Amino acid sequence: MLAVVPPPVTVRVPAKVNLHLSVGDAREDGYHELTTIFQALSLTDEVTVAVSEEPGVEVHGEGEKSVPTGPENLAWRAVCALAEYAERPADADGIRVVLRKGIPVAGGMAGGSADAAATLLGLSTLWRLDLARDELAGIAATLGSDVPFALYGGTALGTGRGEQLVPVLSRHTFHWVLAFDQRGLSTPKVFGELDRLREAGDPPRVGSHAPVVEALASGDPRQLALLLGNDLQAAAVSLRPGLRRTLRAGVNAGALAGTVSGSGPTCAFLCTGAESALEVAAELSGAGVCRTVRVAHGPVPGARLVGGDDTP
Ligand code: ATP
Repeated sequence: MLAVVPPPVTVRVPAKVNLHLSVGDAREDGYHELTTIFQALSLTDEVTVAVSEEPGVEVHGEGEKSVPTGPENLAWRAVCALAEYAERPADADGIRVVLRKGIPVAGGMAGGSADAAATLLGLSTLWRLDLARDELAGIAATLGSDVPFALYGGTALGTGRGEQLVPVLSRHTFHWVLAFDQRGLSTPKVFGELDRLREAGDPPRVGSHAPVVEALASGDPRQLALLLGNDLQAAAVSLRPGLRRTLRAGVNAGALAGTVSGSGPTCAFLCTGAESALEVAAELSGAGVCRTVRVAHGPVPGARLVGGDDTP
């Protein structure tokens, strides 16, 4: 009798921006305690998971050439982690993952983490594992600190290494313009540069996250704009001095405020509304300070099945 091959499953998954990112001092083990507020944005990757005689990872789109397709790809690591969890490691050899990237690679927007989250949801659906999102989040946390957030989306406070999440109420939709840089920045290098800057002096540190939570609840972009802050910004700018010019250009183009997203180099500009975001994007495109400009809004939901039931 012929085995029935399940149809491919496609998942859409959002990028994140950090509205607030406070980085503790390096611990003995080299890690930093983080307090961060993530927002999921309408800039997405699409991940298709299928049973195939040609297992592996295939990448298309934004930055495809700089994404590894071997076992180090985070999406493939997600396949292996789920196979182990579900005690079906042999089945992983029959899986193909196709990534369609809209999220810039090494852009500080957690694109690789998003792909891992999408793969967990897609593969658990393909294999009919019937896992709750919280159970998937447990596996996600073993893959990287930004992976659980990509499953849940919305707006959330992250602590620990960013993986312990509490949802944050965010009223209304916020409108963003994103400026992608020519090349990515390595996250470990940016943390290393922050450690170096802190040994040499006293780079600025963001305050408490509490006012950011209040601004999100108020839904007022002007209030939120005053509070955007990222301890990694000084380090990202130190490694990529041109970002200073990009940040200035966004504000000159009419954004309320700009911030480096996560470890950079993507810059995120908060705007008063959708129309203003389009105007800022048009002007920033012509300023010659970045590779590509995109508009996006947030918060949006986390990883979701495309065209199907998505309630694990
Ligand atoms: P972070 O989560 O640290 O903010 P980032 O958003 O800056 O990460 P990613 O796009 O996640 O950066 O990629 C970081 C590195 O991870 C890339 O340079 C790439 O070599 C590797 N990588 C592994 N898997 C993937 C993937 N599925 N998509 C993109 N990059 C990947």
